[in-house]
Formats: sequence, C-alpha cells, structure tokens
Amino acid sequence: MIIAGNFKANHTRASTAEYLSALDSLSDQKKEEDSIVIFPPFTALDNYNLKNIKIGAQNGYPAEKGSYTGEICLEALSEFDIDTILIGHSERRHILKEPQDFIVRKYEFFKRNNFNIFYCVGEPIEIRQKGIESVMNYIDKQLENIDVGYQNLVIAYEPVWAIGTGLTASVEDIEEVHKAIRERVETPILYGGSVNASNAADILNSSFVDGVLVGGASLVAEEFYKIIKASANIS
Ligand code: PEP
Repeated sequence: MIIAGNFKANHTRASTAEYLSALDSLSDQKKEEDSIVIFPPFTALDNYNLKNIKIGAQNGYPAEKGSYTGEICLEALSEFDIDTILIGHSERRHILKEPQDFIVRKYEFFKRNNFNIFYCVGEPIEIRQKGIESVMNYIDKQLENIDVGYQNLVIAYEPVWAIGTGLTASVEDIEEVHKAIRERVETPILYGGSVNASNAADILNSSFVDGVLVGGASLVAEEFYKIIKASANIS
C-alpha cells in the first residue's frame, strides 16, 4: 500500500520537521512493503534524514529553472533530492485553473526526469450525479495525452466533492471507479477524499485500492499514523 499525506498550504518549516521526526519513529512498525510519502509545503523542503518516509513536491513548473515567478523548478527540487511530485490535484485544476494541456506538459517534463508522478483525477459533484459513465468520460479526458504506461506513475482517484468536505465516496463507488481505472492502467491506484482514521481500514481493504492520498487527516502525525496502522492491521 502507498499511504500519502498532502499538507497543502499547512505546516511551517519548523512544524514539518517536528512532524516528520515523530512520524518517522512511529513508522518503524509499518509493513515493510508499505510506502509512506509526505508532500509538505515548499518552504519545508530539506534534506531530512528519514528511514520510513519519502518526501515529494506538491507541484513543479516544467523547466530546469528560469523566469517563472512564484513557481518552483527542477533545479530547486533536485537540491533536496526530490524525485516525487503531485500533478493534476483538483485544487490546482479548479482553484488555480490549471488547464489539461499545461498539466500534460508538466507530466511529460517530470516523466522525462524520471519522477514518481502521483497523477490526480476525479469528477465534480454534477458529473457524479449523472452516474458512472459520465464519471469515466470525465476521467478519460483527464487521462488524455497522459502516458499511463509510465512505470513511475501512481494514479490518485479523488472525487472533487469528497476533498476536504468530510464526505467520502462509498466503498462501492470507490471500487466501481477503481475497477474502471484498473482497466485503463496497470499502475497503483490510490483513493483520496476525506480519508481519516475511522474510514481508512474499510477503504484500504476495498478491491482495486492500492493506497490512499490524505489531506486534512495527515496533518497530525499521530492521526496519520492511525491510517498507516490501518493498512498494516496493527492495533
Ligand atoms: C487531498 O488533498 O488530496 C485530499 C484528499 O484532501 P482531504 O483528505 O482533506 O479530503
């Protein structure tokens, strides 16, 4: 399983360091084959000495370096040996209005640089209400021109209406969408959308689920560790 935490614009450099040190120690008991990935804010990127946790970037501009005010490029990420990135998160698609062709450019750039890419897809509520066919048509558009055969790809299925809302897709809905995505890709498929310590076990035990991407419930190390424990069946 892959258990990933996205801090978004939460945590400072100091609190991230404290968090990582606490979570890294707790995670000594994690299952060997489970991977833990944390996406902190850029100001908290550093050369952490962690045994159990991998650090990723929440975003990146598709260039080595250059005149891209407010962005972060490959050179700056490489300083901290970052080789994992989130692309296509719904907050970047919807709040920051990133269009699909730009997302594809990012994907191609970071693929060329051998990054592990966590590529997010997911439908808004009005599409969900139309049923599974509309959901998959929507997701297919988000997969257009994305090389789904890329070996370092992880897909995160995150219904927009479930992100940060406390609403979680039902296990049946998750399985239905993941099964349909599984017909299109061979890479791991994570679920994201209000995953927390109470619902993690059910979601992680669902068919076609290879892990979770967690926002809000990843912010406190001890809470996030409960999700890691749910994956490892540790009581
Ligand atoms: C996310 O940001 O990817 C996410 C799933 O957030 P939350 O867990 O808060 O819904």
